[in-house]
Amino acid sequence: MDFESSYPVKTVSRAAARKRSGKMRIMWFVVGTSFGIGCASALTSLFDAPAVQTAAVAPAAIAPSAPVPAVEEASKEVALVMPDGKPVEAEPEPQEIAKAEDAAYPKAVDLKVENGDTLISLLTDTGASYIEAQSVVDSIGKVYDPKKLDIGQKIAVQLHKNPDSPSTPLIASVILPTSLTSSLQVTRTADDGFSVKKIEAATQHKIARSGGVINSSLYETAAAGGVSPALISELITAYSYDVDFQRDIKQGDAIDVLYERVETEDGTVIGQGNMIYAQLNLGDRNLRIYRYVDGNGGIDYYNERGESVRKALLRTPVNGARISSGFGMRNHPILGFTKMHRGVDFAAPTGTPIYAAGDGTVEMVGRKGGYGNYLRIRHNGKYASAYAHISRFASNLKPGQKVKQGQIVAYVGDTGMATGAHLHYEILANNEQVNPANVKFKNGNVLAGKELAAFRKNVARIESNLASIPNGSILALAEAQKRGLIN
Ligand SMILES: [Zn+2]
Repeated sequence: MDFESSYPVKTVSRAAARKRSGKMRIMWFVVGTSFGIGCASALTSLFDAPAVQTAAVAPAAIAPSAPVPAVEEASKEVALVMPDGKPVEAEPEPQEIAKAEDAAYPKAVDLKVENGDTLISLLTDTGASYIEAQSVVDSIGKVYDPKKLDIGQKIAVQLHKNPDSPSTPLIASVILPTSLTSSLQVTRTADDGFSVKKIEAATQHKIARSGGVINSSLYETAAAGGVSPALISELITAYSYDVDFQRDIKQGDAIDVLYERVETEDGTVIGQGNMIYAQLNLGDRNLRIYRYVDGNGGIDYYNERGESVRKALLRTPVNGARISSGFGMRNHPILGFTKMHRGVDFAAPTGTPIYAAGDGTVEMVGRKGGYGNYLRIRHNGKYASAYAHISRFASNLKPGQKVKQGQIVAYVGDTGMATGAHLHYEILANNEQVNPANVKFKNGNVLAGKELAAFRKNVARIESNLASIPNGSILALAEAQKRGLIN
């Protein structure tokens, strides 16, 4: 199981890395071609650029009958500059061609996507012609965006011998995974075109129960029980309206989760589905939540009374942060004298995502004196929330923009008057800062009538099943269906 891949932060940095890499590749290409091959090997080692063959020189460009020089020697060749002083045009690397000639076809090639790769560049790396690669990409483009490649993604290619050009194989088939359970199969047709077929792997849902006593953190306990990071994140979000995860959770508290797990036919776990039920035992409080789909298809977690756990505003708009300074009088860390602290400080590393505390409209975004980079979101006529010392805002964030609760709006920093990276968070009622701990938030949705009756049936079904599903057990699909835990 890849624990990192489900984090949005990771995805963002991946995309950014690819953009950077793409840019470097272009820069490198420009530099490489304008100064000739002389500096190409040095630049290659600097950037570890995958496009090494683009700036190397084809043997034909030196002398048609000359032996193919090794790349290191080629880099010292004076003759690589044309008589008129212009550098030689970039062409495919000679070694690649030599390799392709040696290769026996048919051949299976497994490609792995790296920074800056495109489907075309990957396919032409196999020795196939650009026209072939373009034709494959065009056919895929009818059903799937070929730009949606992930770093590390594997693509399987079958190559056949090209009777007209032994060094340039023909692409017989390409298998491109598009999700954990689906892939595209591209196959060469009799008329030298390509057909595309979607392939879905058979999967089945099972029900699993995990949990245990919390020794260090809820995250570790749940992860040790096999709960995926994505599901833990969902669990934390569902509880974050009622629980301050740094202050309220103590050693000896316990977590219990009933959730769906998705497996392929051979039993490989490929993901986790819905969290059905969770119980967080905090000693003095026992918080049970149940997933429920209402008559309008709205999905939410509810307590046993049928009140949605979602509140008007999040108490903790950053994950994994700890309160470093509460609301009230304190000795100011920079000014040195006692001053009213009109917000709550959450210590978190620079770059930690900050979530919109509730649905609303961006009211202010920019510099604001000692607050540094400051963001204020208006939630309704009475309430607004403010975020200070931000390192950067979410891209394109501007006043008047609508935001959704939980949406990433900014990142923690130490701009303005701050001794270290933290989020200064304020809740404003009628434009006055108030102590968030004293604000009574109403539950987002309260089930009534028929909905409440249906919800209670759902709760009773889950509760009646719990006794016979021990912690750590997994129910097969048929059994889970028989018990009414899965459709
Ligand atoms: Zn503060």
